[in-house]
Amino acid sequence: MAFINDHYLELQDSYLFANIARKVNEFVAQNPDKKLIRMGIGDVTRPLVPAVIEAMHKAVNEMGEAATFRGYGPEQGYDFLHEAVQAYYAKMSVSLEKNEIFISDGAKSDVGNITDIFGNENIVMIPDPVYPVYVDTNIMSGREIVYLDSNESNGFAPLPPTTEDVSPDLIYLCSPNNPTGAAYNREQLTAWVNYAKENNAIILYDAAYECFISDPSLPRSIFEIEGAKECAIEFCSLSKTAGFTGTRCGYTIVPQALKGFNADGDEVAINKLWLRRQTTKFNGVPYIIQCAAAAVFTEEGQKQIKENIAYYAENARIIASTMEECGITYFGGQNSPYIWLKCPDNMKSWDFFDKLLNDIAVVGTPGAGFGNNGEGYFRLTAFSNHENTQEAMDRFKTLFKK
Ligand SMILES: *Cc1c(COP(=O)(O)O)cnc(C)c1O
Repeated sequence: MAFINDHYLELQDSYLFANIARKVNEFVAQNPDKKLIRMGIGDVTRPLVPAVIEAMHKAVNEMGEAATFRGYGPEQGYDFLHEAVQAYYAKMSVSLEKNEIFISDGAKSDVGNITDIFGNENIVMIPDPVYPVYVDTNIMSGREIVYLDSNESNGFAPLPPTTEDVSPDLIYLCSPNNPTGAAYNREQLTAWVNYAKENNAIILYDAAYECFISDPSLPRSIFEIEGAKECAIEFCSLSKTAGFTGTRCGYTIVPQALKGFNADGDEVAINKLWLRRQTTKFNGVPYIIQCAAAAVFTEEGQKQIKENIAYYAENARIIASTMEECGITYFGGQNSPYIWLKCPDNMKSWDFFDKLLNDIAVVGTPGAGFGNNGEGYFRLTAFSNHENTQEAMDRFKTLFKK
């Protein structure tokens, strides 16, 4: 008899985007001539930049010549890309060894797969609301999850618990945050690093939106904080920063100084475990894609992706200023492509979703889909084009401008 992993049956159906799609399809069927504006899904819309396309073309040609053809590459990525990432971190005054950098097919895989190397007896702390991958992957392995309230009173940037009734072993943090747009400052992140070190816990830090940080005082990597190399893993992705959502490339930093404990209480290097996990279960990112990724880190590539990020930032500014004009409380919108707004008139998330869809044909994401504390909130994304963003906000004002 083939037994299944029973924990899969404990997962809640991920009805959020399916539910949105169903409601949108119904609306479109009933209103075929209304122009729908989508500001819900966290996917980018700007094309890959020229430096990336050029590097990809060149790599494709190399693959077609016997002399430059590449087969299996190193599972953890090519050295040329390690060097590019290393130089990128050096600009943030973070020095990394090349063997601390693992190239991946994106942050979602690594964030999910990292659970392989940690014991199932670990207690996991996860902020609520949150990117659902952290929760679901830990349910799959049957770990106990304690939720950390992320709400208006802490500006959706929760700090470590001050009581000792919870003692997490693994802590997920995401900054700038999806869905709330909140970004930790240096002091807040230092509090987390100190807390993790005091409790021998490891922080799993999702920095997928680091490129959206425009305020130079905010840390873009947790390794900018002293001591973080002894207590954190950082997940990064070119998805949102360079439009790689369909191209697939990310990188995960596992410092050599990071240690976990075996059953006897002896220290074990986490980097070695992750290398073993990746070399066993992963065969690396395609050469062509790694060449494209390396082009992102060139001077030209950086200049070009920054133009796209500035484009999205302008959309975020348009949305944020509309919220201000309408007197609606919101978070994010600066240092983040997300605007997390408090539904006016104490509306519930899904009621607000229905209202925007039916009254002004604008689609967003109900906050309740990201956790209990998301109820009453709503996420709008800056990943649309200027024209649609402006039009959606003009329509928004017809409903809510006092
Ligand atoms: C989009 C996103 C990622 C990136 O996922 P990829 O697999 O690299 O595309 C990671 N974390 C969060 C919170 C995200 O929103």
